Amino acid sequence: MKERKIDPRYVWSLISSGKGCLYDLRPLEIRIETGIVPGSVAVNWQELESILISQVKKPVYLLCEVGYQSKQYVQRSKKSGVYCVAGGFDAWYFADLPIDYLKADEAALRYDRQCHLPGWGMTGQQKIETAHICVIGAGGLGVPVLQYLVAAGVGRIKLVDDDSVSFSNLSRQVIYTGADVGLPKVDVAQKWAMNHNPHSCVTPLMYRFDENTADELLQDINVVVDCSDNIATRKIISIKCQKLKIPWVFAAVTDYELQLSVFDPRQPNAPCWFCLFGDDAFDDISCSQRGVLGMVPGIAGMMQATEVIKLILSIGKPLVGQLRVDNMLTGWSKVLKYDRNNLCQYH
Ligand SMILES: [Zn+2]
Repeated sequence: MKERKIDPRYVWSLISSGKGCLYDLRPLEIRIETGIVPGSVAVNWQELESILISQVKKPVYLLCEVGYQSKQYVQRSKKSGVYCVAGGFDAWYFADLPIDYLKADEAALRYDRQCHLPGWGMTGQQKIETAHICVIGAGGLGVPVLQYLVAAGVGRIKLVDDDSVSFSNLSRQVIYTGADVGLPKVDVAQKWAMNHNPHSCVTPLMYRFDENTADELLQDINVVVDCSDNIATRKIISIKCQKLKIPWVFAAVTDYELQLSVFDPRQPNAPCWFCLFGDDAFDDISCSQRGVLGMVPGIAGMMQATEVIKLILSIGKPLVGQLRVDNMLTGWSKVLKYDRNNLCQYH
């Protein structure tokens, strides 16, 4: 078998005279810390296969940290013209070959892990950064939704809630502290978001989401997240989102149990909230009477944030026509499928 492991000095002589391309597969923070090969191209392992398919002419040299991963890849790959740099960047460094140094890019580092995911990359990150999300409710569900969307770099978030922080919130709504008691939730949450990720812009709106405020609120929104705790609000969200063709993510929690589903009026024949719950659905006894384990809305909120990301990036299968139910006490979990109800008046 032909040798597909090449000495770094020889690789440098080839690429510096234009005979091939060097792909650097190391994570961003390592490239910032140790430097890069001049003229190299940063590629992640997930993208490599598709990049190699389009790369037809020049030979390609793969550079990893110590040469092991790239060697394994080259051994498995059937593609010709792909070689690994023997000994990786370590060998490059000790051979005293040219190295350039990158400036630390805070935003790129912040999103580096998620950008490595299939279906994400820089293009996906741009979609996240230009997305405009409306989060209705800044309580048990709204807090984790906000935390993870802000952390992922969602560009603009409208946060709607007319409530203030109370001591009874602190067991679940973990961004609020005792010192925040009495302050508007949306203001405290906006301050938290600004400290956590200044690239994500949260607009605090201290009023109720209702018939009168809905239309203006939902202007220019890509996804709505229902973090309310009552059916009256969900009915308005469903009617308004159906009219404006905005997908929305529903969650509800009681004691140890959560429910999760996605409604997407952009899809023909997708069921709406009323198809699932009916027009005469009413609120069961509230969390304050029945109790709720703090982690349950935490988990449900993280699941909602995950569905939002799937909708923004058009990846995976959002829970449209499916109701996920999880009981955290028993470990029971199920995804129930439901159809559009042809007698439903609301879609
Ligand atoms: Zn319906």
